[in-house]
Amino acid sequence: MTKAFFFDNSRCTGCRTCQLACKDYHDLSIDQTYRKVYDMESGACSMDERGVVTHTCKLYHVAIGCNHCEDPACTKVCPTGAMEKDPETGLVSVDGDKCLGCGYCVMACPYGAPTLDKTVGHTIKCDGCKNRVAEGKKPICVEACPLRALDFGEVEEMKARGESHDIDPLPSSSYTKPSLYIRMSPDAKSSQAADSRIANPLEVF
Ligand code: SF4
Ligand code: SF4
Ligand code: SF4
Repeated sequence: MTKAFFFDNSRCTGCRTCQLACKDYHDLSIDQTYRKVYDMESGACSMDERGVVTHTCKLYHVAIGCNHCEDPACTKVCPTGAMEKDPETGLVSVDGDKCLGCGYCVMACPYGAPTLDKTVGHTIKCDGCKNRVAEGKKPICVEACPLRALDFGEVEEMKARGESHDIDPLPSSSYTKPSLYIRMSPDAKSSQAADSRIANPLEVF
């Protein structure tokens, strides 16, 4: 059965436990990550003639890995078939033995999920913790989240919980149809609005 992720943006505190649990489980180096957390800010402060400061500032966090898209851009451009979508689970992963390291998938993915690991000479990315999923477990990022902001399961179940795919700074879901369903916090902006700022660009790019 096809799987999907659920992200409750109204619960996420941006603590990065999901990211660190993933790095630990997959034994990633200090400069590698399969899951990023965007800190999104909007609004401004102002002071009136009496010196009273008011603000319209808002902050929210978006924790994101590979979205194991229904219509993945990465698999379409891969010249060797190394980037594959599992027909049963829908999880997208890369076979390092088949990957040439050409980086086409890196350029094609609108979510920045695959990265080229020059030390091993091929692309690496979130595989949805497919080995855990095969054992009937959830991905390690989902289990680690202390706020229970993440979930993973059958696509229909996740769809019933999340009303949106589109949250700033993610691109429009129309490009790749991500298997990601989001419950937006009241402070979050949609992809189309795009009037928030990424507060941690050095960390996520
Ligand atoms: S998020 Fe990117 S890498 Fe993951 S399946 Fe979609 S297009 Fe491919
Ligand atoms: S599903 Fe697994 S590989 Fe993907 S971000 Fe979560 S912990 Fe990392
Ligand atoms: S562990 Fe949960 S609350 Fe913390 S950043 Fe990740 S999704 Fe957000």
